[in-house]
Amino acid sequence: MIGVDIGTTSTISVAYDTGGVAVASHAVGYPLSEPHPGWAEQDPALIYAAVVETVRTVVAGISRPVAGLSFSSAMHSLLGLDVAGKPITPLVTWADSRSAAQAARIRASAGGLALHRRTGTPVHPMAPLPKLLWFREQEPEICERVACWVGIKDYVLLRLCGALMTDHSVASASGLMDIHRLEWDAEALQVAGIRADHLPRLVPTTTVLPALTAAAAEATGLPASTPVVVGAGDGPLANLGLGAVAPGVAACSIGTSGALRVMVERPAVDPLGGVFCYALTADRWVVGGAINNGGIVLDWTGAALAPDLGDKPQEELLDLAASVPAGSGGLVMLPYLLGERAPHWDSLPRGAYIGLTNAHRRPHLVRAALEGVCQQLALVLRSMRAAGIEIREVRASGGFARSPLWRQMLADALGMEVRFPAGHEGSSYGAALLGMQALGLIESVDVAADRVYIAETVRPDPEDAAVYATLLPLFAELYGALGPAYTSLRGLAADLPLEHVAPNVATVRLRDDQPQ
Ligand code: ADP
Repeated sequence: MIGVDIGTTSTISVAYDTGGVAVASHAVGYPLSEPHPGWAEQDPALIYAAVVETVRTVVAGISRPVAGLSFSSAMHSLLGLDVAGKPITPLVTWADSRSAAQAARIRASAGGLALHRRTGTPVHPMAPLPKLLWFREQEPEICERVACWVGIKDYVLLRLCGALMTDHSVASASGLMDIHRLEWDAEALQVAGIRADHLPRLVPTTTVLPALTAAAAEATGLPASTPVVVGAGDGPLANLGLGAVAPGVAACSIGTSGALRVMVERPAVDPLGGVFCYALTADRWVVGGAINNGGIVLDWTGAALAPDLGDKPQEELLDLAASVPAGSGGLVMLPYLLGERAPHWDSLPRGAYIGLTNAHRRPHLVRAALEGVCQQLALVLRSMRAAGIEIREVRASGGFARSPLWRQMLADALGMEVRFPAGHEGSSYGAALLGMQALGLIESVDVAADRVYIAETVRPDPEDAAVYATLLPLFAELYGALGPAYTSLRGLAADLPLEHVAPNVATVRLRDDQPQ
């Protein structure tokens, strides 16, 4: 079974045997462009080409026949197709915040919270709902020409199999589907200014498309009769990949961004609007929150505070952070370098250091930044519990897990044991498992829980956990306290240029200006 994971920066295809062992894999990257500040677009044709190339390479590298392909993709993307199925907009990704004003308006409207409750998706510029409103207001002529609005996986499947549809999982992250009825939500469509026939047909994630088009068969090297499983969003599938499928077992990731999600058996609505609810299958849903600022915060400390440490400063920065105690000497960092998502779902906040004194040094600044990321995940955990979700185990993955300090810090901030699975394959493994269930090769995706081996369990250190528990209410309050400052800064910062001229550049220019 080949699991194809269409991510934001690359697509990876991995071939698994039915025992779940990876036998071949290939990844191909593509750019994420920012034509205007805050925009984050991609070329869907490049992503399709990456899917074909990764599948073709994997197929060429294995000797066994392929039972099928199954898909995972980044959620929340939006692409307009004309009547012939050709893209007439760029692919607007989850990271694109052009619709911040539209999202803020919808959130503040009388039906804003009700929309979140019915669709499972927080009203946030990441989601297709405010993006559609942006297109309606800013690009009305393009809107007129769009026959169907789709996500990236829908487009890839259209080109591979000639069939246009979207699965309940990706649709549950669009802000447009009623998660209780599994139908497009009439009110959301009205807000977006579209009709249901502007969207693809909704199908279960285990839907099997019976064949590839002749062109796709030739391009991938697969027989045209290869079944294709429609698949799901990468968040819910990441839980499968970690074996976090039983109620109460959460998956936590800190890669570039971060997330905490737990599976439940039916759509769960958060009356407070702090967490999302996305579908995996009819009886498996994930509830949780994603944060924008994960490993990116460590990378920023390197670029901003420690350029002397070179291009790959992570380990040295983590050593610096380890040299000061939990609580960073009373320095708190709000890590909202890229705005934030859960649990407040407001794109306005910016980063902040609070509590700086003359005694603080670089190690404190670095440690406080890492603590901020963990504390934000602790806030997400708190919101999930406030929504009535039980969490008794956390399984973690992502680049942060390379650091023993950061692993311990997460366990301390969450105040819970954190388990680290060995050889975790991520969403491509989740996609393959879902595909195996769809094709009858395994009875249920629940086997994931037994197949994932836990390499290490990190227990909270009682003293450090107490420090973080004491600081968490302050960390949470600062968000609200700084709200007016964020609002003022949004207006003020637009007129304050960011560019700086490095001193040595100025010197070189002066020298160049000398007569020869
Ligand atoms: P992605 O989410 O893009 O798949 P990864 O899971 O590979 O990314 O995580 C990338 C993050 O891992 C980077 O932002 C970086 O800060 C962090 N990282 C890199 N090296 C280390 C390290 N040695 N220890 C802890 N974190 C690290």
